[in-house]
Amino acid sequence: MTTHAPAAQPPQTVLLPDSIDEAVAALAAMPAAVPVAGGTDLMAAVNAGELRPFALVGLGRINEIRGWHYQDGHALLGAGLTHARMGRPDFAALIPCLAAAARAAGPPQIRNAGTLGGNIGTAARTGDALPALAALEATVVIAGPEGAVREVPVSHLLGGVERLRSGELIGFVRVPLLHAPQVFLKATGRTGPGRAIASVALVLDPARRGVRCAVGAVGPAPMRPLEAEDWVASLIDWDNGRRIDPEALRAFGEYVAVACIPDPAPAQEGAEVPALPPTALQLRRTVAVLARRALGRALT
Ligand SMILES: Cc1cc2nc3c(=O)[nH]c(=O)nc-3n(C[C@H](O)[C@H](O)[C@H](O)COP(=O)(O)OP(=O)(O)OC[C@H]3O[C@@H](n4cnc5c(N)ncnc54)[C@H](O)[C@@H]3O)c2cc1C
Repeated sequence: MTTHAPAAQPPQTVLLPDSIDEAVAALAAMPAAVPVAGGTDLMAAVNAGELRPFALVGLGRINEIRGWHYQDGHALLGAGLTHARMGRPDFAALIPCLAAAARAAGPPQIRNAGTLGGNIGTAARTGDALPALAALEATVVIAGPEGAVREVPVSHLLGGVERLRSGELIGFVRVPLLHAPQVFLKATGRTGPGRAIASVALVLDPARRGVRCAVGAVGPAPMRPLEAEDWVASLIDWDNGRRIDPEALRAFGEYVAVACIPDPAPAQEGAEVPALPPTALQLRRTVAVLARRALGRALT
């Protein structure tokens, strides 16, 4: 492990461990230290004066988390995988919706540095990998002090049901290999790379005759419209080219959008339901279009 202690700065140490075990040991020894991977979120916060970490534990030298391997029909993705790596064709053949999300995550310099673990660590509502992971029902493998390992659903981490404890690191993300169409679509407020206004990840699970859909950016964490998923899965002719009535596609879009952006509650029981504000109505339309298109593309 390499240590740099810049003299002219406020007390700040940068540790560069070579393994997850070393990184976890460093975090356990210095509870005030913060892990940093690509730094695209963390260093932006430091530069903006929002964060003054006492020490940093850099994860960039840990080779074991920069690739992926296979285990029991799943891919174990290293937390250090960059968006650029996940966007490449070999990865896209394995997990198409995560690859598409990675390709949409910011401009090239951000995709070259930003990582999967950092996207989860920041847990921004606009994190593009997050709806893809939610639709895939991925789990996060967390490494802790003294060799401890625990695994939690990514939705628990993003929804605040579980938190990273002191000294813990995201080591891997376990994703089922479904070998079926997957789609990720994102709407932004500008042309060119931009943060999502809304995004939809949709995966087909033919073995279970299931459709799984997650909507990103419209709430603090990705949302799963479970009733809409079950409803539309029952309308797909799974034995006959996965056909569906075009009207059902449109209705699915609406169903997803209303589930994620519901009507406001009336002021009191029996009172009229207030109208949705125009911006929310526009967002609902956007989500409806994304969900309809995502399902349409997955089924063609
Ligand atoms: C100009 C710009 C545009 C962007 N556009 C997009 C976009 O379109 N879509 C998008 O999704 N994101 C975007 N981002 C955000 C950012 O690039 C991503 O969230 C990226 O995935 C963060 O990864 P990182 O490795 O740089 O994380 P870092 O900045 O290194 O870390 C982020 C957080 O995660 C923690 N962390 C990192 N790795 C681990 C780990 N293994 N275990 C535990 N905690 C960890 C850190 O402590 C920190 O709190 C953009 C950022 C910038 C600056």
